[in-house]
Amino acid sequence: MRQWQLADRPIGRAIADSDFALVDAPDPVPGEGEMLLALRWLGFEPAQKGWMENFGGYVAPMDIGEVMRGMGVAEVIESRGGRWPVGTMVTGMTGWRDRIVTDGAGYDPCEPDLPPEAMLGPLGIPGLTAWHGMTAIGRPAPGDTVVVSGAAGATGSIAGQLAKIAGARVIGIAGGPAKCAWLIDQAGFDAAIDYKAGDVAAALKREVPKGIDIIYDNVGGPILDAMLSRIAIGARVVLCGGISRYEQGGQIAGPGNYFNLILRRARMEGFIILDQQPRWPEMRARLAALLRSGRLVAQQDVVEGFENAPTALARLFTGANRGKQLLRV
Ligand code: NAP
Repeated sequence: MRQWQLADRPIGRAIADSDFALVDAPDPVPGEGEMLLALRWLGFEPAQKGWMENFGGYVAPMDIGEVMRGMGVAEVIESRGGRWPVGTMVTGMTGWRDRIVTDGAGYDPCEPDLPPEAMLGPLGIPGLTAWHGMTAIGRPAPGDTVVVSGAAGATGSIAGQLAKIAGARVIGIAGGPAKCAWLIDQAGFDAAIDYKAGDVAAALKREVPKGIDIIYDNVGGPILDAMLSRIAIGARVVLCGGISRYEQGGQIAGPGNYFNLILRRARMEGFIILDQQPRWPEMRARLAALLRSGRLVAQQDVVEGFENAPTALARLFTGANRGKQLLRV
């Protein structure tokens, strides 16, 4: 088997190839009641960089030399009386290793009628995160104006579509004309702002003259500050992520426009989707129904080859990914 191990911590800098080591190991052998899985897909999350750094304290610390932690989809290729028969596709915290022995604890079977890799995108962490953040914290209603940052990404694109389904007007902020065009043409957003093309605050003033009822923020930094400058009375600010800070070290500037939360009687709330795990099956069933009906679209970006896992993760931080970043083994 092959596995990627953590070799260094990318604190205050971009991810480098030297942060990982590709190591061969003997194939694991399943015992009684266990299964041997072959990895088929890996999914990549910006949070993995924080896990490498032991930042945040919401997951167990990672040691140097440990198999890189991550979500995957794998196929049962051998079963010694295990939970699922050979051929079953399952998803869980596989880690970056191409053979896994498990009794099935922590794994879920994939939806049989949908592509298995959907379990890493619209039915996985991004979809579940968007569902909880938008429906439980943002709570969009008809007539609301919603602005999503990181809008063309795996999480942001679903968060925006869920707000559209709830009857809101939705504006996405994303990097580059191609991503902005996708938001309007494919994901059904009402408008899109290319933050790389000019002043986000000025564009928001134009697009959101009556103020923002819900901010769904994936980015933080100056984009969050620009959105805070336009909140309406009673606004909900959903703090999902802050990718603009994940490569920064030292002191990080706070949002200068936070005082608008007082003036506009607004609320700002963060969350970690892992806390909602007991509700995942129910949330996943609702997302799957929307996918099957065609009301929810999801874009995926596939890198080929297990040896390219570090490259695939790094793509998230340059905006190279178009939708959910995946790797096909
Ligand atoms: P993603 O949005 O598919 O990919 C990351 C995107 O971030 C890139 O494509 C890029 O898009 C944008 N980006 C990168 N650097 C940026 C910068 N400096 N400024 C502005 N935008 C930048 O990734 P994802 O998995 O869906 O994650 C999105 C966010 O959700 C992340 O912040 C992540 O940490 C957060 N998240 C939170 C939870 C939770 O439990 N709270 C769970 C999952 C994810 P552009 O081309 O548009 O720049």
